[in-house]
Amino acid sequence: MKRFVLLQGDGMPDLPIEEKGGKTVLELAKTPNLDFLASRGEFGLVDTIPEGFEPQSDIGNLSLLGYDPKEVYTGRSPIEAASKGIVLGDDDVAFRLNLVSFDEAKGAWFLEDFSAGHIEDHDAKELVRALQQGFNSSLPLEIHPGLSYRHILVWRNGESRFVLKPPHDIQGQGVEAYLPKGPGEEVLTRLLVEAREILRSHPLNQKRMAEGKMPANGVWLWGQGKAPTNIKPFTVHAGLPGAVIAAVDLVRGIAKLAKMHLVEVEGATGFIDTNYAGKGEAVLRALGEYPFVFLHLEAPDEAGHMGSLEEKIRAIERFDAEIVGRVLDFARVTGDVRIVATSDHATPFALKTHAPGAVPFALWDPRMTRSNKHAVKFCEASAKASSVRYPSGPSLFFRLLDRDGLADF
Ligand SMILES: [Zn+2]
Repeated sequence: MKRFVLLQGDGMPDLPIEEKGGKTVLELAKTPNLDFLASRGEFGLVDTIPEGFEPQSDIGNLSLLGYDPKEVYTGRSPIEAASKGIVLGDDDVAFRLNLVSFDEAKGAWFLEDFSAGHIEDHDAKELVRALQQGFNSSLPLEIHPGLSYRHILVWRNGESRFVLKPPHDIQGQGVEAYLPKGPGEEVLTRLLVEAREILRSHPLNQKRMAEGKMPANGVWLWGQGKAPTNIKPFTVHAGLPGAVIAAVDLVRGIAKLAKMHLVEVEGATGFIDTNYAGKGEAVLRALGEYPFVFLHLEAPDEAGHMGSLEEKIRAIERFDAEIVGRVLDFARVTGDVRIVATSDHATPFALKTHAPGAVPFALWDPRMTRSNKHAVKFCEASAKASSVRYPSGPSLFFRLLDRDGLADF
């Protein structure tokens, strides 16, 4: 039996850092296992994000799993809604609802932080309950609680034709210009205004501020869409069953829409403090039952959003040592596992957000005996120097599954 593993370090690629001699985070990180895959296997670039799409994780992950975003993508929030088991009718619209911090001292709609300081789950839960109870129930809107700052708003028979900006792209400025515009804008604007009134005076926010924490004194809506209907079950799409290891709703939602098996990992947080080794072990366990396993690691992306070079290096080094290394050792022993390691997009820490452009990937299986005279570093520059470039996520995905007939596997 042949088995296939796709290891996705979210947002690993970055930009050259002037103070570090032009090196990137991947170049600064010690990644012997990724370097082995790059040196011995097929190494190059893949364009995960189709032209005309934003470099978002939903697009990148769908694409890496072989689904063409141009055919299946309807928006980010319907995917997150699926992960929570929220059923959307044909005319229902799901929005991402972030708990955010506004700083009124700097302006009426000055967005201070997109996540209310990565608000703790228990505080978020209480504030979302206050919103559910407090906002005008004559509006056809439902708030579905999630974790931390990430929640879902469903508008039954709603409007979806808004251009809404992700709050992590517009924080640190007045955001009046980005308030909803278009048919139905009055419904959403009313929710945004009422949420601020309910949250501003909430005792929990007073307490948070007294403790020096950011208040969650408002919400922001974005990523809306209707339910995707074109995502084929993974077994049909790939011709074999697959399992997914992921902590974040977005990737879990894709797994649910594709009817893939979700593997739970204790201590997996979707943050830089996740259980790396537990996730690595989970890949090996899942391979006992499933011929295809997709592992998603959110940590490098989160470190990028935090703007922390040190944390991003640490997240990548732990990805390499505790996940890639484990899978690589397993593949060496069993001899029947083919591996791809890559990312969905870049999250340069200096920008604190995602950036467009092709990303490095390495594909290797134990029958690849190629030994480069010079060891290759798994990084942006050497991937670019390679002549290999896959024009889309699906093209790399089917190469991983050996469906293009080119493989020596
Ligand atoms: Zn991502």
